[in-house]
This record gives sequence, C-alpha cells and structure tokens, in this order.
Amino acid sequence: MSPLADRYGRRFPYLRLSVIPACNFRCTYCLPHGYHADAKAPAPLSLAEITRLLRGFTELGMHKLRITGGEPSVRHDLSEILRTAAAVPGISKLAMTTNGSLLAKRLHEWMDAGLNAINVSVDTLDRASFAHITGHDRLDDILHGVDMALAAGMSSVKLNAVLMRDVNDRELPAWLDYLRDRPIGVRFIELMQTGDNLAFFRDHHVRAETMEAELLEAGWQVLPRAADAGPAREYRHADYAGRIGIIAPYSKDFCAGCNRLRVTATGDLRLCLFGEFGIPLRPLLQSDEQLEDLVHAIGGQIGRKEQGHFLHEGRTGVTPHLASTGG
Ligand code: SAM
Repeated sequence: MSPLADRYGRRFPYLRLSVIPACNFRCTYCLPHGYHADAKAPAPLSLAEITRLLRGFTELGMHKLRITGGEPSVRHDLSEILRTAAAVPGISKLAMTTNGSLLAKRLHEWMDAGLNAINVSVDTLDRASFAHITGHDRLDDILHGVDMALAAGMSSVKLNAVLMRDVNDRELPAWLDYLRDRPIGVRFIELMQTGDNLAFFRDHHVRAETMEAELLEAGWQVLPRAADAGPAREYRHADYAGRIGIIAPYSKDFCAGCNRLRVTATGDLRLCLFGEFGIPLRPLLQSDEQLEDLVHAIGGQIGRKEQGHFLHEGRTGVTPHLASTGG
C-alpha cells in the first residue's frame, strides 16, 4: 500500500520508535548529567503493545522501522522486540540507532533477530574527546563493533556524528582516512537546540556548510536527491569506499524531505521532532481488536503535521532532549 501522505504531499513510509527513554551515556549535548528516571513515569510499551503499534503503522504503508531510545540496548528484551518487528508483514527494513556500547557483544544476536541496518553514534575518532563527550572511554570497543558489523555483512552501517564548534568541527581529515576503505556512511548532524541545552547550543552550534565547502574542495560530489530520500544531503568520492551525509536541520527546505513519524517509548505519536504535542496511542494498543481504531486515529492526525519546524525561532516544542523522543 502506498504510504500515508500529509496535506503537503509528503509520505511517511518510515517510523522511528523509541523503546526506552533511559540511556547509559552522558553526552554533553543531550543528557550531560545522565538519565534520571522519573518514578511516576509510565513503563515503556510492552512487547504486545509494540506489536499492535507496528501492525497499525504497516496498515498505513510504513515499511521502514528504526528502533531508537534513550539507548535501545539498555532494554533487556531488545532482541525479542527486534524479532517481533522483523516478523510483522510489511516491514522490509529494520534499523536501529545505538551508542554502540553493546554492539560488539550483541551484534550476532541482533542480526539473528532480523536487524539489517545500524546507525552508531560516534561523534569523534579521537579517544580522549570521545570520552569527554559521552562520559565513557569506549571508543575503541565501539569502533571494533562497527567493523564487526561490516564483516558480518550488515546491509547498512552508518555512523552519526553531531558537529560541535571547538569540539569536533575540524576533524574531517581523520574521517576521510577512516572512510577510505570502509563502505560506511558517516552522517554529520548539525547540533539542534532542545528544551534543555540552550547554553550548550549557543556555544557550540556550527552550520554544516563549512564542512560541505571542505568536502567540495576535496573533490567530493553531492548526489542528486532521490524522490523518496530523507533530509540528508549525500556526498561521495571515487577514491573512497565510504559516503558522507549532511543533516542540516537549519537549512532551507529541510522539512520538505521529511518522510518519518515518531513514537515515544510510552506510545505518544510525534508528528515532528520539535512539535508542540504528542498524541497518546497507548490506549489503542490494549487489544488486537483495536487495530481499526488505531489506524483511523493515526491517519486522522496526519493532517495536523506542520510544514516545517520552528527551530529558527528557538521553539523546541515538547522536546527537552533528543533522548526523550529518540532523535
Ligand atoms: N542512544 C542512541 C544513540 O546514541 O544513537 C539513540 C538515541 S540518540 C538521542 C539519537 C541520535 O540523536 C544520536 O545520534 C545523537 O547523537 C543525536 N542527538 C542527540 N541530541 C542531539 C542534538 N541536540 N542535536 C543533534 N543530534 C542530537
């Protein structure tokens, strides 16, 4: 079935589902003081609720699912979630975004469960800087996990690096060395303002254009945008096995390429990462008989999706940090 469309003609074949708000890292731009559980917060969706949710979205044409968090690998039943998701008819791409802290240990278990694409967050290739940014001296182990994923034939392996002024914005040469022989995509993401990080954002936000100019100068070429592509601008170079993607949420027309919806760990539908509201779907995930109501509810909300976010005006919506929605 052709995916759900909004009033601006955008289609949404892609769902990002957070399975847990907790994270074991303390990234300076996201959870600098670590994750603190709210004792009154509802538990994350159960496996049965997740299964019903996914059936509802596939009825609406979703075929790519990304599992995210918090940190998804903190959840003990992650492999069961992956196995269940992979078995839902209609889901052809099952991806996950992770900090990689358990990647080397669990890779084969996750792949056996059906995971076929992975994005690992690695903001820098410098060990000391990595430890400073994340609070964990784990870079070598995480990069080992990434190489294992490539060797194991994972069909898509990407790294996410958030660009930060005076932290990691002058490391292109190290990344180019890394990409020369590795068929990996690295995505440089512009730091986004969230409800909690305004001071950090003011100090460290840097536009990705400077890096794009460096890429063009080094002979990298921007690929024509595929009709169904997401918001990243993709670059490649004949001398490199790897590719580079630029995610620049402050650039013009960024939202025109939006192809995704999000659901939080407790079942709130978010039409935009920086939207002003969540739509609680959990009450419609309590029995298999509610499938039709669920599909109707999701379809009925899509008309409320705005044409663009209001980040330029500093409006971050109900997102205190990206761990709360999965990024
Ligand atoms: N824990 C997982 C991880 O580390 O990939 C998944 C959740 S994390 C919130 C998802 C992605 O959002 C990561 O790549 C992270 O670097 C990115 N992120 C978090 N806060 C951000 C911000 N303020 N601006 C841009 N990217 C951000």
